[in-house]
Amino acid sequence: MNFKDYIRVIPDYPQPGIRFKDITTLLKDGAAYRAAIEAMHKAIAHKEIDLVAGPEARGFVIGAPLAISLGVGFVPVRKSGKLPGETVEASYDLEYGKDRLAIHADSIKPGQRVLIADDLLATGGTIATTIDLIRQLGGEVVGASFLIELSYLPGREKLGGIEVQSLITY
Ligand code: 5GP
Repeated sequence: MNFKDYIRVIPDYPQPGIRFKDITTLLKDGAAYRAAIEAMHKAIAHKEIDLVAGPEARGFVIGAPLAISLGVGFVPVRKSGKLPGETVEASYDLEYGKDRLAIHADSIKPGQRVLIADDLLATGGTIATTIDLIRQLGGEVVGASFLIELSYLPGREKLGGIEVQSLITY
């Protein structure tokens, strides 16, 4: 299956000059969505994984089915203020301003092996912050899996040698 055929590129969204990769066109096709998750699973099948963690919101639609496929639990990483329990948090720079991500303090036990999943790797800021949160809890990040990687941006380099898998590359 050529997964790229299922991604819709929307020019000038959310601002002029950005070519946004819209994954909803893949998600609404049941066969393509399932095949994409199966292919992502296959790429990491050799790894020992205790948990999948994914940042909101599109990290949920990739990470949760991947966790079910692997037979492990899913840990949501959310914007600050959204999780009800005690959290640890970290801030990161956006193009304009800052954002802050949070994870439940008891969601990962020290030594647990965590795979990160998201829809798209761009600058790597979101995932670098997710790695920081997992490590604050003593978790070991064993890899990061993406549906899409924008290889013309330095996302991989920002992840400090963590093994990166991506299904579709632009
Ligand atoms: P980064 O932090 O790597 O710069 O940006 C990645 C995050 O922004 C991901 O969580 C992703 O959901 C979102 N993102 C950035 N650009 C795009 C895009 O073109 N398409 C989609 N679907 N998400 C994007």
